[in-house]
Amino acid sequence: MSTLLLSHPASLEHVTPPGHPERVARYQAITQALSDPAFDGLIRKEAPMGDRAEVLRCHPEDYVARIEAAIPAEGYRSLDADTHVSPGSLESAMRAVGGNCAAVDAVLAGKAGNAFTAMRPPGHHAETATAMGFCLFGSVAIAAKRALDHHGLGRVAVIDFDVHHGNGTQDLLWSEGRALFASSHQMPLYPGSGAAHETGAHDNVLNAPLDPMTGSAQMRAAYDQVILPAVRDWQPELILISAGFDAHADDPLANLNWTTEDFAWVTRRICETADAVCDGRVVSTLEGGYDLGALAEGTAAHVQVLMEVAG
Ligand SMILES: [Zn+2]
Repeated sequence: MSTLLLSHPASLEHVTPPGHPERVARYQAITQALSDPAFDGLIRKEAPMGDRAEVLRCHPEDYVARIEAAIPAEGYRSLDADTHVSPGSLESAMRAVGGNCAAVDAVLAGKAGNAFTAMRPPGHHAETATAMGFCLFGSVAIAAKRALDHHGLGRVAVIDFDVHHGNGTQDLLWSEGRALFASSHQMPLYPGSGAAHETGAHDNVLNAPLDPMTGSAQMRAAYDQVILPAVRDWQPELILISAGFDAHADDPLANLNWTTEDFAWVTRRICETADAVCDGRVVSTLEGGYDLGALAEGTAAHVQVLMEVAG
């Protein structure tokens, strides 16, 4: 089976103020990287608009209405110090949700071995009723809920290797006893959550904070000794990934010093775990990554591994 890539040029219309790291050029860098002939084997589909009802599995109606009402007719509007919306932001965010949900549908239907949704804005900082950290809707948690509530899976796992803690995903899945949320992230760093003692309402949250400047060794140990054994024990029927590429040494927002090869390594390890527990079913979604070169290389390495293991 092949790897499904979901994307949509609506991501070019979520425009952030000049100098903002989460910018249109990120989507362009990824699109260019994945246009290489090495990626000809991808099944490419446009990310569909997300269904409002899917968003409502994770966010209350008044929050969604507040985001919709915040969209300006022109220019930008700030939701907090670093989260902004422009006229195209709602469609872009809803297609990020829709892409993730379509990825879940395709992988669970056996139409693709695994999938990657390359959309922005990212989602893993969006809490139940709070937009933050460049994020509007918790796309990966929404996709996890679709797998559980719409497809009837009994157990899923979300693995988040973005350099920042996925506080939003943790918040949205905190009381969801069918979902394991496992995260590696630099600590201390924005948003400040993600300590090891945060374990969820059902012992379903696993945080593996990493020290600044530690590079490959500490992160590989965390995955091999803590995160992946816990995921195996969880026995998920689907593994979702929050794939951020801001742990790279070149990223301006953090200092974990991962290499491009580390992103390939962690992807391969996650896919091996998925092979062992859920027939290799993996749905991955783009989160952060703010050095354009590192983002392009990391994404390419990630998708290359997904393609290799999908066969
Ligand atoms: Zn990040």
